[in-house]
Amino acid sequence: MTYVDTVTTIEAIISQTQGDSDRFAETLRHQGIRHISFSQVAAVEACPQRYYLQYIRMLDPDPMPPYFTKGKLFHQALARSYQGQMNGQPVCEDDLCQAIDDECQGDSRLHLHNAVQVHLANRWADYEVVAIEQPFVLQLDERLPPVVGVIDLILRHNADYAVIDHKTGHDFYAPDVLQMAVYAEYIRRSYGDPACEFYYDQYRWVRNLARIRKPAFERKQVSVHADLWQLSLARLRHGSAAIDTIRTTNSAPKSGECFRCPYRSICWD
Ligand code: SF4
Repeated sequence: MTYVDTVTTIEAIISQTQGDSDRFAETLRHQGIRHISFSQVAAVEACPQRYYLQYIRMLDPDPMPPYFTKGKLFHQALARSYQGQMNGQPVCEDDLCQAIDDECQGDSRLHLHNAVQVHLANRWADYEVVAIEQPFVLQLDERLPPVVGVIDLILRHNADYAVIDHKTGHDFYAPDVLQMAVYAEYIRRSYGDPACEFYYDQYRWVRNLARIRKPAFERKQVSVHADLWQLSLARLRHGSAAIDTIRTTNSAPKSGECFRCPYRSICWD
């Protein structure tokens, strides 16, 4: 099968999974359809062994770190909130917290409730919601497998677009612009090259909003210029070549920062 055929297969999966980004990602993973993504490249750059465990052996971290579950629940709450905005039926704080209360308790519940409050105070209320958790596939060049991704949020204000990625964590981290460079290319090809701005909405987990010394939210705009695209393409090619080596040899060196890796209990058992 050529990569052109693979793109067609992935487009069919996007259509079948009807915007369910988790099902889209799981289908790609379990059917072993060759593709690369920002997450795969970031994983192989962080540690080839991590890529091997996650994408070849398809292992989940054990135990699953709480921040995985918390981040996923918050992304679901944000998707519900922006879906309500898209439908002209805003979802209230209590409704957004309902699913959270069903799934977690203690500090995690406090963090998520506070993040929902922060979101409602900072949401993109004046924008039209164009798409939420939008899966896509791009054929960038014939040497690269298709590049896939899921964009958290696409907005429009008059003729101008904005792309938003949501991040969560105990602190604000410098975003990896490779992700936005790929999103920019998708927007350019799919929406007729409009004016578009790119933002990371970063939420910091806090227990008590009344007692914080630094903000619980940061909106960071990213400039996606032509040089960045060339650098990003080079990173994708380099990452793809490293992944090919791992797949061919069915092995990978251990060379990451183990102290903060969720795979360390599996890796060093
Ligand atoms: S524990 Fe260390 S060697 Fe193992 S996957 Fe994580 S970073 Fe790599």
